[in-house]
Amino acid sequence: MKFRVPMSSPDITEKEREAVLRVLNTRHLSMGPEIRAFEEAIEKYVGVKHAIAVNSGTAGLHLCIRAAGIEPGDLVITTPFSFMASSNVILFEQAVPVFVDVDPVTGNIDPVQVAEAAADINEGGEAAKKWLPRKGVLDGAKLKAILPVDIFGQPADMDPIKEVADRYGLKIIEDSCEAIGATYKGKKAGLLGDYGVFAFYPNKQMTTAEGGVIVTNDDEAASLMRALRNQGRAEGDTWLEHSYLGYNYRMHELSAVLGRVQAERLDELLDQREKVAQLYVKHLAEIPVETIKVVEDTTRMSWFVYVVRLAQGVDRDETIRKMGEAGVPARPYFAPIHLQEFMVDRFGFQVGDFPVTEDLGRRGMALPFSGVMTEAQVEIVCEVLGELLG
Ligand SMILES: *Cc1c(COP(=O)(O)O)cnc(C)c1O
Repeated sequence: MKFRVPMSSPDITEKEREAVLRVLNTRHLSMGPEIRAFEEAIEKYVGVKHAIAVNSGTAGLHLCIRAAGIEPGDLVITTPFSFMASSNVILFEQAVPVFVDVDPVTGNIDPVQVAEAAADINEGGEAAKKWLPRKGVLDGAKLKAILPVDIFGQPADMDPIKEVADRYGLKIIEDSCEAIGATYKGKKAGLLGDYGVFAFYPNKQMTTAEGGVIVTNDDEAASLMRALRNQGRAEGDTWLEHSYLGYNYRMHELSAVLGRVQAERLDELLDQREKVAQLYVKHLAEIPVETIKVVEDTTRMSWFVYVVRLAQGVDRDETIRKMGEAGVPARPYFAPIHLQEFMVDRFGFQVGDFPVTEDLGRRGMALPFSGVMTEAQVEIVCEVLGELLG
């Protein structure tokens, strides 16, 4: 099926093409100078001490889990309304996700429930049971961290989450993979916890084709994560010395140089996406869908996707199918994590466990979106949607 409008599009100019070609013509395709140059560009943009480039957002989140000292059986409070990777990295270490439902407006983790969950788990016994998965939890398991996700480019409500983390000595891993450049009460997303991660798959605000970057002001964690991404080689280790159990999570030079040029254009890229989001606001005005509300604490929204929620009772999947027939792609966004088959098998989650997440999962639909989208394309999407929803 050839669509009349693409679902997403990277914004690549002659500058990026020239830079990638220049690196391709050197002998340094990996572990050369570009990775550090890219990291410096991110450090400068975000205003952080350490940026550590890796080959995916998922890899970055996994390294944060390791840096936070999360071990088999440990508990991590997180959200079931997210892209799968934010929970998978907890399972990579045989740890256990403690899901907390989300705010119905933003889709971000509900800080009130985070506080209740942490208090009850700390108390233990029956109080804790209400929050823990039905199975797959070890006796005496310890709560170690909170992993909030900045959904759709809007930062999670982090001040009250930080209070909880401080009270119980928990680390915060901020999944900002959808939110580079966003701000919360004037502070940059990614820096709201102990470690933050941005991702650069081609549909993200900026791209390295595949890639991600961790940001942190913690010197010790940064040097550990640098070692872990490079087969566990600590600073001073030779090629065949490995101080830690590590991974090959390195970003290569072609991605790094692409990322550096994109990072230099980041504000322009975000402004373009803001414009397209406003075009949607204008053209969806008469159509019966809920659009994403940017809340007051979000002092800058970094538009990642454009998601609308259909009215209760409208068949979302049928709507998507009919849009497809009319040449306009759309996707469900997100599918609740706790209801993925292996999550159900392992932890015994059930339909109804997280009703807000499930409701948003049923009604949410991502429309075609990118910074290079034209008003004519937005009009096509809205026309098709408007006709279907009458
Ligand atoms: C994109 C994304 C990631 C990371 O994805 P990768 O494909 O591994 O780069 C993680 N979490 C969320 C919420 C995302 O949207």
